[in-house]
Order: sequence, then C-alpha cells, then structure tokens
Amino acid sequence: MTSLHLLDSHLIDLIAAGEVVERPSSVVKELAENALDAGADQILITIEKGGKDRITVLDNGSGMTRDEALLCVQRHATSKISSQDDLFSVRSLGFRGEALAAISAVSRFELTTCADESVGGFQLRIEGGKEVAQTKLGFPQGTRIVIEDLFYNTPARQKFLKAIATEYQQIHDLVLRLALARPQVQFRLTHNKKVVLNLAKGESFAERVKNGFGIEMAKNLVSIEHEESYLRFYGLFGHPSGGTRPSKRWQQLFFNGRSARCRPVEQAIYEGYKTLLMKNEHPIFFCQVELDPLELDVNVHPAKAEVKVKNPALINTILSQALQRQLKAASRREFFGEVAPFKAEDAGSPSADRVQERMIPQEQLSPGTFVVPSEQIGFRSTAPRKSAPFTPESPSLAPEVLPDTTRLEPEKEEPFVFSEEKGLTQTAEGQAPFGVIGQLEKKYILAQGEGSLILIDQHAAHERIRFEEIRGQFYGQGVQTTPLLIPQVIELPPQDGLLLEQHLEHWQKLGFDLAPFGGNDYKLSAVPTLLQGQDAGQVIRAVLDEMSQFGRSGKLELFFNEVFEKMACHSAIRAGQALSLEEMRGLIDQLAGLDLLIHCPHGRPVLVKFGVAELDKKFKRIV
Ligand code: ADP
Ligand code: MG
Repeated sequence: MTSLHLLDSHLIDLIAAGEVVERPSSVVKELAENALDAGADQILITIEKGGKDRITVLDNGSGMTRDEALLCVQRHATSKISSQDDLFSVRSLGFRGEALAAISAVSRFELTTCADESVGGFQLRIEGGKEVAQTKLGFPQGTRIVIEDLFYNTPARQKFLKAIATEYQQIHDLVLRLALARPQVQFRLTHNKKVVLNLAKGESFAERVKNGFGIEMAKNLVSIEHEESYLRFYGLFGHPSGGTRPSKRWQQLFFNGRSARCRPVEQAIYEGYKTLLMKNEHPIFFCQVELDPLELDVNVHPAKAEVKVKNPALINTILSQALQRQLKAASRREFFGEVAPFKAEDAGSPSADRVQERMIPQEQLSPGTFVVPSEQIGFRSTAPRKSAPFTPESPSLAPEVLPDTTRLEPEKEEPFVFSEEKGLTQTAEGQAPFGVIGQLEKKYILAQGEGSLILIDQHAAHERIRFEEIRGQFYGQGVQTTPLLIPQVIELPPQDGLLLEQHLEHWQKLGFDLAPFGGNDYKLSAVPTLLQGQDAGQVIRAVLDEMSQFGRSGKLELFFNEVFEKMACHSAIRAGQALSLEEMRGLIDQLAGLDLLIHCPHGRPVLVKFGVAELDKKFKRIV
C-alpha cells in the first residue's frame, strides 16, 4: 500500500471513465446527448466495427468557441448548471461535466467545432488524456467528435468489450431510444459504411415509433394521452390483445425527453393493465412522461440511466387509473366499434382530463399475414374419435388480435362429465394409465389412477408432448415442413431483422423457409407442419425477443431449444378450449409415452396428484 495521498487528475479521469464510459454505446450516448443539449436538429453518427475502432458524432448545434473547446474536456466543465438550484431543476440531458474529460482520457479524441462561421472553426486532439494538437480551420457551425481506439490505454477495460455485433446492437438500440426521446431531431446511424437507421427530422412520436420499430409493431398500439396536476403523459401502449410480448423488451419510458428507467412508473403502467393481461404477457409501451423538473431527480445514476420521482404514489394513482380507463375504452371499441370519445368536460367532471384516444391507423396488412388453418390443431388421439374433432379458432380472426380466452369455442356435447363409469373406462386399447373423469374450467383434465386424483394442466401437458415431438423430429428424420399457399410477409423491427439473418440457415433447418424481402420484411414460404394454421410469425418474433436477451453469442443449442419451446407453446392446445373425453384420453396416452412427463418445457408442472390417503386426511377420515 502507498501512503495516503490525493489522486492525480488523470487518474481521477480514468476512474470516472469507468463509471461514465463502459462501452462504445456509452460514448455514443454522451456525445449525442451533448449534441441535443446544444440544440442540434441533425445528429449523424458513424461507427466502425461496433464503435470499437471509431465513433464519429456530427451535429449542427450551437458549436463551441476556441476557449469553450479547450475547457470542455476538463473534468467538471459544464455550461449546463451553475448553482444548487439548477441541479434540482435540470432541463438538459448532461450536467455533470464529466463525459468529455472521461472519454478523452481513454481514447484518441478529436474535437472539431465552430460557434460562429465568421470567426472560423477550431480543432483539438487529445490522446489518452494528453493534448497533442490544436488547429484553426474552416468548419460549419456545429460540432464533430471522433473517438478512435476506445480503451487503447486501459487494456483491462478493452478486454471487457463484447463482440462487434453485440456492441453494434447496443448502439443501435441506444440511438433508437434517443431518437424516440426527441422525434423532432434527425438521427442517422451508419455502421461500417452502411446506413442502418435514418429517421427524418420533424416526425411525430407515433411516426417515429413506426419508423423505428416497424409497422407490425405499431399496428397494435393505442395512442393515449392524459394530463393532470403537474403530470402529462402520452405515448403508444400495446393493445391488451395483440400489443403484448412474452418479455419486457419493448418497453420504453422517457422523462422530460430523457430515456430512463423508473420502477414506480413501470409499476403504475402494469397496474393500468391490471386484469387486461394474461400471465407472462408484458405490454409494449413507448411512454413520454412530462413533469415539473422539480418533481424529478435525474442525478441518481452516473450514466443517468435511472430517474427518481418525488411523489411516486400520486404519479401511480394518476397514471394507472387514466391508463386503465383508456385501455378499457380501446378494448370496448375493438369489440363494439367506434364510440364517441369520452370528454371529461362534457361529462361535467371536475377534473379537467384531456383524454384523447385513437388506434394507430391500421396500415394495410400484407397479403397472407396469417395462414388459414386447414386442419385441426392436431394432437393425435389413439382412441377412435367419437365426437367431432375440435376445430381451431375461426379462420376469419387473426390470432394476434384476440386473446385466447375470447377465441370461439365449438359447442361440445359433453364438456364436463362426472360419470364414474366413463371415468373408470380406459381407452379402447386399454393403455391409458389414468381414467379421465372430466374437464375443469376448460383448463384442467381431471383423472384418476394409481389411487390418486390427478389434475393435468391441458396446455402444459400438450406443450410438453409437442416439445418432445418437435425435438424428436429435428434430431431424427428432420422437421416436416409444409409450403404456404400464400407466402406470408413478416415485418420485423430492424434490430430483429439482423438477428434473424444471422440464423437464416438454422431457421431453414427448423422448417421455416425465410428469405429477406426488402427493408425489414421477410418472406415466409414454408412452415413446420406442426405450426400449420398457427401464426408462425408470432413464433419467430417470440424467439427473436428471447434471443436478443441471451445475446447472440448464445450457444446454437440454446437457440434451437428456444425455437422448440416457442413452437410447442404456440401449437399446443390452450387453456380455455373445451375437450371431449376422447381428446383428453388421447392427450393422456401421449403424455404417458414420454419419459419426462412432470414438467412442461418452461418448468411448470404438468400434473399434480392427490393421493387418497391425503384426501382421507383432509376429510378427517380415520383410516
Ligand atoms: P455535460 O454535458 O455534463 O455538461 P460534457 O463533458 O458532456 O459535460 O460536456 C462539457 C461541455 O462541453 C458541455 O457542458 C457543453 O458546454 C460543451 N459541449 C459538449 N459537446 C458539445 C456539442 N456537441 N456542442 C456544443 N457544446 C458541447
Ligand atoms: Mg454531456
């Protein structure tokens, strides 16, 4: 240990760099935020090799004078706040005065800027925190910063950088977030000389969401706006049917034009969705929150990734209630048609709610967006089928638009039969290990066997069966595919398009015949036979969602398993489907053929047993 001393300023910068600059995307974030703070309405970002080799950010903002340029790379140099009061009412994105000092300490840094074209521009070069050149030169008003060889002088940090594709993905996501926070501003992102994102200036928030994430995503979003007290929020919220995903990936919050996370506000949004979501569903949302800067603390995280609100309870009440009301109104509209929009003023309500709701206009659907089911949903029954086979949902309903519980059910003559005779009867072949008693709430199969009452989760059980079936096919004779009569065009968010293209050949092996179809569109010409009549696009999206989370470096085997799981889930019978006794027997037969019948692929139990002894105890029978 050395003796007690104060750290020198270069060392302080290196330490600070560790907090502010974690990876190329953090550099892009700081530079682009500075450009926004400088009033730019055009921000052009160019990166090489995921930003590891070079990052250039060019803006048409205010620019800096020579003196300002020399000062801005000093630690704690900022033009954004100067008093304690300012700190608690921050309106700019930056305010800590750390970023440029930190970035220039760990890279080769070049700043070119001009505040007044009649005076001319100025260029400053710094390498690893040491100034190497100052030049006067002609430059249009604005600023350009070029960062080369990030972390070249801190190899320990450089080692932590991920693969180019991962770093690139992070930058892409980040630029999209910034672009959503400020739809008025043009953002262009170029990676390895290819323009990957170009969002024009002057877009509305809804247009930006559509251009940034694709029409397919925007289609199921409801535009919602509400203002009350010191709070206004507006944005696009996933319609409870169709606008949800299996993960939280498509959720973005903005506070006074800053993208940030905030737990209490996220919770309020989930409360707004209460009773409208099914288990494991997460709403898509892009929500702008505007509130008095005094009510918001942005100084709780070094990279400002998180904010705190002063009065979470009030915000929760306002947000969750307004959201729930408007989401319910949107659902009603979907089923009962357009009704006159609710106006608080008309209703004589004391609170001056400004409520404005509308669905994003439905873009024309690509032809064959879903496939007409041609065959029953398809689990095999080993016993001869007496009752009519159950049919999947009406072909005129897009599966994405209706939640499972509202799907049309065919009438069953015998939805619940509690007959001992039938219950004890085994299948024709006498193979079933359990005798079926009946179906409970169109969700559970009641059966008996081995001296127990057995409850089987019909969806989980069928999912398990399907999973094994698909895996067996894949590693055995190969996945059976069926060409689509009308190829389906699937539109993906750009970031998912990249993910898909990386695995095109593997998708092929899995039975999906996919090919790029221009822009963010992909043409699906064949699907695994098991998914016939199902929305294969939904399966693909769900897999990509998951993949984006375990990262591209994830093992191929993980990817395959993910696809098996999603295919199994989507092709399995649902909760809410009435089953005939024959169908239930068929399901149990197939389940019995599996070694691992206890858990569905998600790890949920497939069946639970209550032994007679256990029941006797419950009934206080003395045995
Ligand atoms: P902060 O943004 O917290 O103030 P930075 O280190 O990011 O700290 O920037 C320091 C200062 O440099 C800013 O306060 C601003 O005055 C100036 N600056 C940085 N980037 C730009 C830019 N693109 N255009 C104009 N001024 C800039
Ligand atoms: Mg800054």
